Amino acid sequence: MENARIADRLEAYASLLELAEANPYTARAYRRAAETIRGAGVPVAELVRSGRVRQLRGIGRGIEGRLRELVETGDIAELAELERELAPDLVGLGRYLGLSAKRSVELARALGIRTAEELREAAAAGRLQAVPGIGAKTEARLVEALGREVEPRARQGLLLPRARELVGGVADALGGEPAGDVRRSRDSCEVLAVVCAASDPQDVLARFAELPQIVAVVERSERRAVGVTVEGVPVELVAAPPKLFGSALVRATGSPAYVAALEPLPDAPGEEALYRALGLPCCPPELREEPFRGEPPALVEEDDIRGDLHCHTTWSDGRASVEEMGRAARERGYDYLAICDHTPAVGAVRGLTADDVRRQAGEIAAANELLAPFRVLRGTECDILPDGRLDLPDDVLAELDWVQASVHGGQRMPAPEMTKRVEEALRNPYVRCLSHPKGRMIGRRPENALDLERVYEVALEEGVALEVNGLPNRLDLRGEHVRDALRAGVQIVCSTDAHSVAGLGNMPLSVATARRGWATAAHVVNSRPLESVLSRDG
Ligand SMILES: [Zn+2]
Ligand SMILES: [Zn+2]
Repeated sequence: MENARIADRLEAYASLLELAEANPYTARAYRRAAETIRGAGVPVAELVRSGRVRQLRGIGRGIEGRLRELVETGDIAELAELERELAPDLVGLGRYLGLSAKRSVELARALGIRTAEELREAAAAGRLQAVPGIGAKTEARLVEALGREVEPRARQGLLLPRARELVGGVADALGGEPAGDVRRSRDSCEVLAVVCAASDPQDVLARFAELPQIVAVVERSERRAVGVTVEGVPVELVAAPPKLFGSALVRATGSPAYVAALEPLPDAPGEEALYRALGLPCCPPELREEPFRGEPPALVEEDDIRGDLHCHTTWSDGRASVEEMGRAARERGYDYLAICDHTPAVGAVRGLTADDVRRQAGEIAAANELLAPFRVLRGTECDILPDGRLDLPDDVLAELDWVQASVHGGQRMPAPEMTKRVEEALRNPYVRCLSHPKGRMIGRRPENALDLERVYEVALEEGVALEVNGLPNRLDLRGEHVRDALRAGVQIVCSTDAHSVAGLGNMPLSVATARRGWATAAHVVNSRPLESVLSRDG
């Protein structure tokens, strides 16, 4: 059994435990375990069989038991039981329509319905109002929502890795291509779509409805279906005739404005053929946001990246040692890795004092002995204090190879103060890069009020780069801001901000975000050889 399948089942279990209003900590533990398993580089089924699965983070005795049952019998009996009881297809549909999971289950019980189809019938027959708590207004809203034929969108955007996995999993299972927001690498994905080439659409539509990710199909026509996950996230499937596959893929990938500007699209079996027929150069998906018919630049690619300049170790809140991180970066084919642990003002986690930073130098030197010619750089993610001073003295910063400056606390400062604070830090001669400049947490914390136009000016004057942070819930700067920064002449750094060996694997998210900002390799500091990075030229 593959890791993805195991993770899907654990996640389904977590969702159902939530629906059943079991202990919320248990549900969260299963969700976290699912995440760990998805990210694990080894076959988890084998770990389960050899009794070593508890070596994975967040997997205790209880979860191990469920995993053993899953690997040995192919399922979790209690999960199957919960699925019978709670009707995940109804829950998925209910959530898609804007009902809470709890309300969906109540509705199912009160009406004695078991499937999405029965919900439709009940709605059509006007029976919804019989359910306590559902008035004429809610009923009208549900009936309308069930009948609408607009582009399906998730109510809450999915983070890019989760969306890639969901859409990629559906595409792989059906032999199709991911499209929609995922293919454009949007930071929060609402439009999830897959395009398949199919001379017989019935077959692929039927397989789509049977996928474990899809609990209910809410719309179906001859060559199109919309299914929902148990979380109520809609996924659209387009089954295009093979000779129209390219046209369908372009249509399902670009933003509505981008596609409208190309219409009428000629018939084409592939994207290249389509662009050729239009007399246009091929356009990378990341650039298909606004209408564009020109020659696209040669965007930065993952292979251009020669090192990672922002990661953490066990010295602050990372999970791996300096050597482990260095070794993992070397295995990725990099030439260098900067260790940028936190400083004390970060607050919530351990930060390194000036003394700690100097003691860490010994460990970094030892790692360099082992890993040469690969280079582990002495760095810091130094907090910018509220008054703009840095959290380490200049004489310590002067010893380091690479200094990232970051605002952590006080993200809500009004624009003038925040901008002055950051400007002050950028004027420090040792600062090389501003981390996650807008401080947002996607879906949780909005961007801060920092005046980026001013930051671009100062960064340009001081030769400071701006980070494109690759943490899935940050992606900061985001694409639009990257583009503004590059237009202003500022350089960027693609970083993972990794807190573990696996975290180094987030580089593609940072690169995709830079690509959305039209970045070429020449704009990216860490696409250069080490000497050039260290010498501040370029
Ligand atoms: Zn940070
Ligand atoms: Zn960091």
